[in-house]
Amino acid sequence: MAKTRRDLMTAAAVAATLFSGAKAFAAEAEPTTVVLHVSNYARLSRSDVNGAEEEATRIYKAADTKVVWVNPGAAESEAYAGALHLTVLLLNREMAQNKIDADQILQNVLGQAGHATGRAYIFCHRISAVADTHGQSFVTVLGRVLAHEAGHMVLPVHSHSDTGIMRATLDLSNAPQRFSLEQVAKIHETVAADLLAKR
Ligand SMILES: [Zn+2]
Repeated sequence: MAKTRRDLMTAAAVAATLFSGAKAFAAEAEPTTVVLHVSNYARLSRSDVNGAEEEATRIYKAADTKVVWVNPGAAESEAYAGALHLTVLLLNREMAQNKIDADQILQNVLGQAGHATGRAYIFCHRISAVADTHGQSFVTVLGRVLAHEAGHMVLPVHSHSDTGIMRATLDLSNAPQRFSLEQVAKIHETVAADLLAKR
């Protein structure tokens, strides 16, 4: 009787070890993570910024990619020191117009991002106008533009596609916009390559 009980306890101890081992492994296998630093020059409200970030986060979550937002005034977690860090500038009308004029950016363009620079410029006044015209919420459109422009930074150059979030012309319908499976694989490749380069 006593022996059986001891055997059971050993089995239980082994199971516990395996379980904690599995947990440790899961903790080591970090999900694909991108850190986006936001500068809110457009002085958008906290709730607009949060809402748009949530929309973009959902789009990346569907691509098995975790987005960590570093908002103005917020302390940055050291946990993500080794992750891929990118910058998003929410431009006010004047800054946007300067950029638009300098780079001769077309009238229907809502944002611009460089794969090489790791910087995205968001033309908030244009997004506001487009959202109004299409009866779509500003927060949703801004979130999609954030996801799209961040996409340019984590995908190779010329990364537009015919459908989904990387369409050259943003889909303003209520249908959720996503990355294609091929784009998801490329996002993961970009982040993995960045990690490797830092080692
Ligand atoms: Zn684009």
